[in-house]
Amino acid sequence: MNEQKTMTGGCVCGAVSWEIDGEPARFFHCHCSRCRRTTGTGHASNLIVPITSEIRWTGSADDRGSFKLPGAERFTTHFCRTCGSPLPRGNVTLGFAVVPAGTVTSELTILPQGRIFGNSRAPWSCDDTEIPCFDEYPPQ
Ligand SMILES: [Zn+2]
Ligand SMILES: [Zn+2]
Repeated sequence: MNEQKTMTGGCVCGAVSWEIDGEPARFFHCHCSRCRRTTGTGHASNLIVPITSEIRWTGSADDRGSFKLPGAERFTTHFCRTCGSPLPRGNVTLGFAVVPAGTVTSELTILPQGRIFGNSRAPWSCDDTEIPCFDEYPPQ
């Protein structure tokens, strides 16, 4: 069996923490209007982590909430019900987890690879001067 790295993270109040076996493959800042609203900032910073085992959580499932945007094909937010911090989402069936980078407490060595949904970028948000910016999804 290959050596498996484990990532850890959690919310700001401490009610929810998690462990994910895997390593981030992709790292993007998403400037879409949904991410701007749910983070309250210019963009979300998300890691894509291929997984073959489910996310392990501390605390009870009642500590975690989620919101699926009606009509959206694949926009769901997951958060701590006590403090509102964002939480990872994803499962083995999907094959990957989406992890809010700011919630990771273990060492992260991957750096952001690009900005996506630059079409929706707020004029005051950081821009494409350091890393590439794609109008919508990045090329494969
Ligand atoms: Zn919390
Ligand atoms: Zn987004």
